[in-house]
Amino acid sequence: MKAVCILGATGSIGQSTLDVLSRHQDQYQLYAVTANTQVDKMAEICRRYSPQVAVMADAESASLLQAQLTDLPHLQVLGGEQALGEVSAAAEVDVVMAAIVGAVGLMPTLSAVRAGKRVLLANKEALVMAGHLFMHEVSKFNAELLPIDSEHNAIFQCLPGNYPSGLKQNGVTKILLTGSGGPFRETPLEQFSSITPEQAIAHPNWSMGPKISVDSATMMNKGLELIEACWLFDVPHYDVDIVLHPQSIIHSMVAYSDGSVLAQMGLPDMRTPIANALGWPDRIVSGVEPLDLVQVSQLNFEQADENRFPCLRLARQAVEQGGTSMAILNAANEIAVQAFLQRDIAFTQIAELIENTMNHVQSRQTDNLQEILQDDRKARTYTQQTILNG
Ligand code: NDP
Repeated sequence: MKAVCILGATGSIGQSTLDVLSRHQDQYQLYAVTANTQVDKMAEICRRYSPQVAVMADAESASLLQAQLTDLPHLQVLGGEQALGEVSAAAEVDVVMAAIVGAVGLMPTLSAVRAGKRVLLANKEALVMAGHLFMHEVSKFNAELLPIDSEHNAIFQCLPGNYPSGLKQNGVTKILLTGSGGPFRETPLEQFSSITPEQAIAHPNWSMGPKISVDSATMMNKGLELIEACWLFDVPHYDVDIVLHPQSIIHSMVAYSDGSVLAQMGLPDMRTPIANALGWPDRIVSGVEPLDLVQVSQLNFEQADENRFPCLRLARQAVEQGGTSMAILNAANEIAVQAFLQRDIAFTQIAELIENTMNHVQSRQTDNLQEILQDDRKARTYTQQTILNG
């Protein structure tokens, strides 16, 4: 029996993880679940899946949860940032699903890494903002890092088992990172400034949380994934090509020196990468329907257009600059996306704000966590101030 902790259990990835776990109750036991403020949803999860510990991000939400679950005497309810870190590093835990959205997921995910857990990484922002440090800690503490992002999980499946010895040495020439192009791949550019949050979060293929849905619409998601791929597979950004593939059936590919290109395919359902990482190296049932290629019938590919999606260019710029540029890019994006979702800014202002913040907040080459967090805060404050100033 493996004990699992889900950071971000109330979210889209959290729910898919609970679904996969419920199919394997003989192999996995749910030890802990965490959430931010969705108390009712958390109470429902606790009743249905019987974890031993439930953590809310703040004390007030924790006491509201406790009050709803007085009839579950064996459940321990905790609250606060420190508790999030403690539960992901708890001795009882074998596997941590890191599925909190945004930079706030960095500390509890790092805690799991430093406790040498098997870490299933959905929280790409953690790796984007502190990739060098993060990967260093993975190796120092012997953690097992498995990618959940469908693209990175696909790349992981297409790479040879000893890829950490070097991609070139293993004959890898390119990583082909696929993306659907989101809901606005063909929308006339003059309509971009009037795109609403409802339109932006309606992804054609995937059902996801609001932040990553907007990131997919601006294609910042692909930009963040480019950075994520560079850290996870130790590959320079110019060896990662972004390819648009509107059907989202191929989840990414690896090209080899003999001309072979290996692709991983499947229906767009996050339960596949979750089951893959949970069971690895074994294959376990995910609940996803088999892929019927005759029904899909066509797989199309297009070049990604950086004029249409300037966030792609900004992400490449950040990874080229290195250091805290990536934390600055990520922080500015989080603030801009939140402002867009609150209807404070237009869709097109997301990229403008990020570029402006990248031009004004000085980045530095550092591996010091406090300095990374400082630059993250500076970028947030600067972006917020720019929004307030109109
Ligand atoms: P959701 O918005 O659906 O869920 C986010 C989760 O994080 C919720 O459990 C939420 O709790 C929790 N959370 C939010 N803020 C805080 C906080 N301040 N402190 C503690 N917990 C917090 O996001 P997704 O599941 O869509 O995405 C999660 C991560 O996975 C993201 O990094 C995303 O990029 C990545 N990812 C997602 C994919 C998808 O298909 N959804 C695909 C690939 C990657 P509450 O519900 O209480 O607010």
